[in-house]
This record gives sequence, C-alpha cells and structure tokens, in this order.
Amino acid sequence: MSSTTHNHTDASCIFCKIIAGSIPSMKLFETDKVYAFLDIGPIAPKHCLVIPKWHGAKITDIPDDYLMEIAPALKRIAIASGEENYNLLANAGTIAHQVVMHLHWHFIPKPDEKQGLGVGWPAT
Ligand code: 5GP
Repeated sequence: MSSTTHNHTDASCIFCKIIAGSIPSMKLFETDKVYAFLDIGPIAPKHCLVIPKWHGAKITDIPDDYLMEIAPALKRIAIASGEENYNLLANAGTIAHQVVMHLHWHFIPKPDEKQGLGVGWPAT
C-alpha cells in the first residue's frame, strides 16, 4: 500500500516522517491505516512498533477505523516473530514514559537470557 494514504499528519512528527518515507525505517509491513517497523533502539531482539497512519499522541486522538487495524497488525507481528513471550504496550503521556507523541504500540519479546541483542528481524 502507498504511504501517501497518510492523510492526518504533523510535519514535525518523526513517525509521520517515517510513514511518509522522508526518514528511513526498517519497515515490516504497512496497510492503508497502519505502519509497522523496527524500533531504532531495541531493548530486545525484534522489538518493533505499530503506528496508525493518523497523527495523534493518544488512543483518544485516533479514529476507530485506524485503531481497528492495530490489533491485527500486532497479531501478524506476533505470528511472524515466532516469539512465545512478549509484551505489547503503548505509553500515553510523559509521566507514563511516552517520548514520541504519535501513538505507537511496542512489540517487545522477552527472550531467553542467553539470547543476544544482535539478533535481527528476518528480511521479508
Ligand atoms: P515511547 O517511550 O514514546 O513509548 O517510545 C518511543 C520509541 O520510539 C522508542 O523505543 C524509540 O527507540 C523509538 N524511536 C524513536 N525515534 C525513532 C526513529 O527515528 N526510528 C525508529 N525506528 N524508532 C524510533
């Protein structure tokens, strides 16, 4: 799907720029309404993010039709990752540790402690 379908943007937002392709990312997949990509600072192998193609900081800012594509995207990632143990989380607000003010869900595997952080997502 084309990233040009991103129709509610903030020109200063780093994730809007990633969706638009003006900042590079390691894209996993995208649909008309969501974009999935590797986190630039992974805290575990395969740590990635799912974002709506609608700019807003919190779940309350995002139209339902965009939110409805988030869960299937996270499911797709969980299946593709092969991971059995992981956290799915979205921080909302600075006190809750949100740094990038464009809503995003983290997919964070909880690897075996013997596994290193250098293990990458398989190319697709
Ligand atoms: P937050 O604390 O807002 O929930 O997490 C923001 C996440 O976005 C962090 O895990 C951070 O590593 C990631 N991040 C910030 N800037 C970039 C970027 O330019 N590219 C990618 N791929 N991830 C980013």
